[in-house]
Amino acid sequence: MTELTRCTWCGKSFPRGKGPGRPPLYCRRSHRQRAYEARTLGRVHALGSDDVLLARSTLQSIQDFLYELEAALVDVDSDLAETGDHRAALWHLYRVAAEARRLEVEPKAVGSPP
Ligand SMILES: [Zn+2]
Repeated sequence: MTELTRCTWCGKSFPRGKGPGRPPLYCRRSHRQRAYEARTLGRVHALGSDDVLLARSTLQSIQDFLYELEAALVDVDSDLAETGDHRAALWHLYRVAAEARRLEVEPKAVGSPP
């Protein structure tokens, strides 16, 4: 079975590889380059070495998703207390959580679109 790791830039999973040395941090070279550009952009804006710039729309998407996930958890808690139907609760939570697949979260880099 292929071992997966997450790209430090885009957050997507990719095969870790079996070669010697340090495991890769990025799924592709362009993402390593964007991470470098983001660090450069961060320095220009006097951000800390671990800080990144995000588009407001990206932040809003993350916050919206977390809000919906939290609401689903409240629903599931309530439904389980009332009915004990674990299958329905799991399905409801799964549908909400599956929206995470649509989130595209990348920090801003020098070459990012405005
Ligand atoms: Zn990536």
